[in-house]
Amino acid sequence: MITLHDLQFVSFISEKKITEAIDEVSNKLNKDLAYDRPLFIGVLNGAFMFTSEVLKRFRYECEVSFVKMASYDGITTTSQVKELIGLKEDISGRSVVILEDIVDTGTTVEELINILRDKGCAAIRIGTLFFKPEAYTKEITIDYIGINIPNRFIVGYGLDYNGLGRNLTEVYQLKENNMTNLVLFGPPGAGKGTQAEVLKEKYDLVHISTGDVFRYNIKNATELGTLAKSYIDKGQLVPDQVTINMLNAEVDKNPNAKGFIFDGFPRTEAQAASLAALLVSKGSEVSAMVALEVDDEVLVQRLLERGKTSGRPDDANEGVIRNRIKVYYDETAILKNYYQKENKYFGVDGVGGINEITGRLSSVIDKL
Ligand code: AMP
Repeated sequence: MITLHDLQFVSFISEKKITEAIDEVSNKLNKDLAYDRPLFIGVLNGAFMFTSEVLKRFRYECEVSFVKMASYDGITTTSQVKELIGLKEDISGRSVVILEDIVDTGTTVEELINILRDKGCAAIRIGTLFFKPEAYTKEITIDYIGINIPNRFIVGYGLDYNGLGRNLTEVYQLKENNMTNLVLFGPPGAGKGTQAEVLKEKYDLVHISTGDVFRYNIKNATELGTLAKSYIDKGQLVPDQVTINMLNAEVDKNPNAKGFIFDGFPRTEAQAASLAALLVSKGSEVSAMVALEVDDEVLVQRLLERGKTSGRPDDANEGVIRNRIKVYYDETAILKNYYQKENKYFGVDGVGGINEITGRLSSVIDKL
């Protein structure tokens, strides 16, 4: 998450995705305009980065110019009139490609085209890095579209919020809500379930334990339960797509949640990526991964003890317990790196009294 002036923004479109979109647009331009010696016209300020990237990829003769649309008050009317500044080239009879950072309602593009046509330019094409189909109100065809986006406020890659954010190499969207989404992490037996129950009350969050949802389905002999049982009984992970679909359905059941505690999810990088995408679609993100750290031997003893009363077959057998802990370190612990890279990983000592551990977790959560 980043802050620009008074507003917070969350990651939305990665640099990789943007680069791929520019590659695609540029490939088309190379095909369509190889021998036209086109004049690319970048619309300032927003399109400077996109224009430069397109130019770097255009392999044939071309020229580039930058323009700005400025408003001034009409002399005879009170309405605002748009003026084009910066265009020195003679464009009559030339092949022109307007490059925009974003087209939303289409008003600017329409005005720009009218002005260029008045100057005698016949062959005008339009390319934009971002396009908002829901907001677009004009008839003019946009010839080259990088990425279609929903009607959200975005910054980065040339686009700004009151002057800031243009230098960001990925695109962020306005954070629309103040959800607190915690990934509660730690090996089996670390006390995630116990702490989740306390934290859920304290912070008014919805607790989703993927293990609990699987067990509920097994108990009720649902299709999902039958599928998951064979994996769970051996202490293995249930396949990603099954788990991801289930998690998405659980989140969708709580459209008004102030936030979630994800307990036992994500356990793989694919699950982490899908969780990020799910939360982005809600204008939110993972706030933090808080991990309970407990020594292996303490875990085995705790789980064997729990197995005496929990009725969980995967708690009763020391071999299965050790396999679950091994699976955690082999497959799941990579997520520590995943969230560390985003500065969202917080390790917390998971040994001690319940209140004591809640206190340690709260001091992390209260600072988010
Ligand atoms: P837990 O109650 O979190 O220890 O989960 C019990 C078992 O449910 C695990 O050993 C896995 O077999 C399965 N499971 C729970 N969460 C996931 C997940 N996110 N991905 C795959 N399998 C899971």
